[in-house]
Amino acid sequence: MPSDHDVVIVGSGPLGTSAGRRLAEHGLDVLIIEQGPAISDPPGSHTRNAARFHADPDAYLEVATAHLDFFDDSVPRDNLPGAAVTPARGGQGVIWTNLCPRGDALWDALSPDEWKAYYDDAETYLDVHAAPFEESTRQQRIKDKLGAALGPDGRAVETLPVAATFDGDGYLHFTAPYDILAASAAATERVRVIEAAVDTLVHEGSKVTGVVAGGRTIEAPEVIVAAGAIGTPQLLHRSGIRPKALGRWLSYHPILVAQLVLDPDLCAAPGEADREPRLQIPPSAAADWYSLVLRDVSPFQPEAPDDTVEPNRLVEIQGICPVDIAEENGIAFDADSRPTFHVPLSPADNARLEGARDDADRITATLGRYRAGCEPIWMPFGFAHMTGTTRMSASDDGTGVADYQGRVWGFDNLRLATNGLIPTRMAVNPTLTGTALAIAVADRLVTAA
Ligand SMILES: Cc1cc2nc3c(=O)[nH]c(=O)nc-3n(C[C@H](O)[C@H](O)[C@H](O)COP(=O)(O)OP(=O)(O)OC[C@H]3O[C@@H](n4cnc5c(N)ncnc54)[C@H](O)[C@@H]3O)c2cc1C
Repeated sequence: MPSDHDVVIVGSGPLGTSAGRRLAEHGLDVLIIEQGPAISDPPGSHTRNAARFHADPDAYLEVATAHLDFFDDSVPRDNLPGAAVTPARGGQGVIWTNLCPRGDALWDALSPDEWKAYYDDAETYLDVHAAPFEESTRQQRIKDKLGAALGPDGRAVETLPVAATFDGDGYLHFTAPYDILAASAAATERVRVIEAAVDTLVHEGSKVTGVVAGGRTIEAPEVIVAAGAIGTPQLLHRSGIRPKALGRWLSYHPILVAQLVLDPDLCAAPGEADREPRLQIPPSAAADWYSLVLRDVSPFQPEAPDDTVEPNRLVEIQGICPVDIAEENGIAFDADSRPTFHVPLSPADNARLEGARDDADRITATLGRYRAGCEPIWMPFGFAHMTGTTRMSASDDGTGVADYQGRVWGFDNLRLATNGLIPTRMAVNPTLTGTALAIAVADRLVTAA
């Protein structure tokens, strides 16, 4: 029986959904197979848009982390105790915090003009905006004060783009895979999502012929695996597709976080409505990590005398530290394709972590002071922003799993759409870059057909 879809996509996260939307806009019928259930309504929408988080935004983080399935959170930090997946309709795109900088470490898979065009498209799909945050009093004043302090070191303080829009009541609506599809008439018509775990890819020679999911084989003229930076190499491994680079060259971001009480002169008056600020300090020669100053979500339990602080006085800072790339850093899969992680920090990584820690003190001294109980902590190592696990390479020389079109080396009709394709040490949050790549992979599929 002929299939009623042109392309099968494994995984309904932001990247699989973006590839699916693009293919639909090219007139193709797409079947997305997602292993997890819907955990939001409508399915694939952002959990953070629920009204209860308007009154208590910090309650969100606990709800989001409840949707993280950790592999083993008791292992030492070199083994990534924070490594986790979210088997749910929309993947981690229903719990992410939506910060969407453009990449700082691009490579030559796309020309500069193509990168720009695909970033533009990714920003449209994810509904990314920066300008609305400039209306925040804290935003303007922090930008001026911190910019004056860091500018002499060649560090810029800029507005941070976010995949979200303010609604009529002044609350942020966060973009999730549901929105990516719903914004496109073609995607609404041509993309179908079903719930089933893909067990293996059926392949012969250079062709994948189908996927085994939920105990049946589904015919697959073209396949894109968009199962996340862990799930994608895991599915290839389970399917017996095991190129040398699979799971290796892993990078990720140790993330330092703290909450500050701002000096009063940086804030709107107590009780006055003020948009939450979101600012970024891109990596530079003087500081090769990525810093954020924003009011987003706080993982802390504040202590006396700061249990209660006027909301306009609060911001968080984050220090996002890219980890050096080395072939031996990565995921090992056992005979049942269960992953374990080995990513020891290099001396340069440790120096970067120390630099980011000192930088947090400097930023804090410029803007105010740490809130009691909210002094800097490292988030569990490995919990977000994994890259490189199915990296792209210019040639089939053993350093990559996929070519510059996202096609797995040696296959005609098997492609990937995942942050795992990113082969460079990216300092900034990766989802916008991954989405740009996913859209490019979809275009290449169409032009190759
Ligand atoms: C708390 C948190 C906050 C974050 N904030 C940011 C941020 O501010 N900015 C940013 O850039 N990034 C952020 N991220 C990272 C961001 O969520 C990911 O980069 C993004 O979700 C990756 O999208 P994806 O589609 O590649 O993978 P995922 O979102 O992981 O989706 C993969 C999907 O594939 C499915 N799948 C896997 N294997 C199979 C299988 N065998 N069969 C069927 N389905 C399968 C999974 O169930 C999942 O739904 C954050 C992550 C977390 C956890």
